[in-house]
Amino acid sequence: MLFASGIVACSPENAPDRDPALARDHYSFANVEHFVTDHLHLVLRVDFEREVLRGTAILRMRQLDPDAREIVLDTRDLTIESVVVATDPSGPLDTEFELGETDAYLGTPLAIRLPDAAADADAVTVTIYYETSPDSTALGWLPPELTAGGEHPFLFSQSQAIHARSWIPLQDTPAIRINYSARVHTPPELLAVMSADNVPDVERTGVYEFEMPQPIPSYLMAIAAGNLHFAAIGDDTGVYAEPELLEASASEFADTQAMFETAEAMFGPYQWGRYDLLILPPSFPYGGMENPRLSFLTPSLLAGDRSLVSVVAHELAHSWSGNLVTNKTWRDGWLNEGWTSYLEYRLMQVIYDEDRAAEENLLNYEELLLNFERIDPKYQALAPRITELDPESGQGTIAYHKGNLFLQYLEHAYGREIFDQFITDYFSDFAFQVITTEDFVDYLDQRLLSVHHGILTREQVERWMYEPGLPDDAVIPTSRNLDDAAELAAMWSRGEVDAAELPVADWSAQTTIHFINALDPDLSTEKLVEIDRTLGLSDTKNAEIGRTWFIQVAKRRHEPAYEQMAEHLRKFGRVRLIRPIYVALAENGHDMQLARELFDAARGAYHPIANAYIGPVFEDDDAVE
Ligand SMILES: [Zn+2]
Repeated sequence: MLFASGIVACSPENAPDRDPALARDHYSFANVEHFVTDHLHLVLRVDFEREVLRGTAILRMRQLDPDAREIVLDTRDLTIESVVVATDPSGPLDTEFELGETDAYLGTPLAIRLPDAAADADAVTVTIYYETSPDSTALGWLPPELTAGGEHPFLFSQSQAIHARSWIPLQDTPAIRINYSARVHTPPELLAVMSADNVPDVERTGVYEFEMPQPIPSYLMAIAAGNLHFAAIGDDTGVYAEPELLEASASEFADTQAMFETAEAMFGPYQWGRYDLLILPPSFPYGGMENPRLSFLTPSLLAGDRSLVSVVAHELAHSWSGNLVTNKTWRDGWLNEGWTSYLEYRLMQVIYDEDRAAEENLLNYEELLLNFERIDPKYQALAPRITELDPESGQGTIAYHKGNLFLQYLEHAYGREIFDQFITDYFSDFAFQVITTEDFVDYLDQRLLSVHHGILTREQVERWMYEPGLPDDAVIPTSRNLDDAAELAAMWSRGEVDAAELPVADWSAQTTIHFINALDPDLSTEKLVEIDRTLGLSDTKNAEIGRTWFIQVAKRRHEPAYEQMAEHLRKFGRVRLIRPIYVALAENGHDMQLARELFDAARGAYHPIANAYIGPVFEDDDAVE
């Protein structure tokens, strides 16, 4: 869900200024300086046969500029049937609307011209009758055979970053927050849920009403419908899933209530009512999506041993960083993802233990180093200087892991007691607001740097924001367990220790992952077969171990495991679990054709977002990571 974009320069001399172009959202056509949406009401019919949503969007908008006569909304592949504008008290007015030129990346602006009669109105109501396309980039439409139960179809959305516009005509920018309500019609045997006030024991009627009383940015608009059932985890938490996955899900995520209570104690009150999880079919393209009140999760987390639940800690933490305090533009994405990765790290320390948090921290750091190797330095700043649209650039996971290390750096410098107070103040002072990186640095300066003199300077902070790589004084993660595993990997590779002697029973999933990555690059087929058998790698139930192993299988052309690798690529649709394996095949010098065939065979079961990420692996050498 992360993308970043074109920037100009990032030298420290010209960084910390207030260039207005930096605070502008280059990913939206909406003229939010003239009109802003306060409330959205949706009436939607879920048509599984035609794979479309059909209905009405009613936007209540405030006019900020009295001279403005045109409202521009974002759309993508929407069929607009009619538009009616009404003001209070003059009622419906003659309205003209026009879809503008389509941009392959941004979609199509919908311009609505207001008659002069609307001039004196402070607020206008815009009603749009529309239908989505079966190609909507947000919506995954699954036939019954791609669900766990195999009997009912399934629909789910993924709006971040700029896909909400492909199922709702709206101002698709995180710069503004809206309340929404909705009525959703489904086949009567199915249940619809949204990022709103879901009622766990709601009667299954095929007509569902929703209300989202807290204002949210558009990328948190979310809907799903299918044969969903609910199981409670704790008083405030529960899980929705197909009945076939319900028990396994409730058991895998049984710690959610404890995480919820810990998070409230550490970060301040949870402001969203309930916190539930929705387990999606395997084609969900991400690990999780922090849709408020209802995180969407990949079923690839169901490892059977709670070893991958840091993703739940991550999505829950977004209830503070991201959902409560939101990045104003996607250029400030680290305010969402870096903060959330740090809060996830803190939660994992408390819910599990320091060792496990340290292991995950070190693995993330290693992933960050790989990112630095392949990502253009100008995109390695936490806050790249984006002054124009450049959809070709990418930041990988830099916003996550570098942002996390930056906050660990602050914690280390000021001590936990002072920094924890800063955290709760920050979330309370900016609750339900949107901010830029510069707003954050000003606040940090006021509340921490200038209060506790002589610890860190603004310049040290700005180095993280505007310069590539890591500053020299970054705190580098360490993990005793992972160091031991790397040592054993080297010894086993050299034949100094037998596979049977490896203490695998004591290893966490993270330790196994680190061990695999530390194996000697030139191992023989026999050695690889031996380690595969000893650790059960090709048959693992843990999707992250599978990912790590099959990347090595593809890189090393270890053909004895190709069948299981192909099975992994068919089984999962989460981009993180599959894309690097396609890349490794495409790059190993022999298997480009095989990679293409495997992708063609599997892509029908992937989400459009996953296909958009993976497709370029076979088209354009430069796109290969
Ligand atoms: Zn996140």
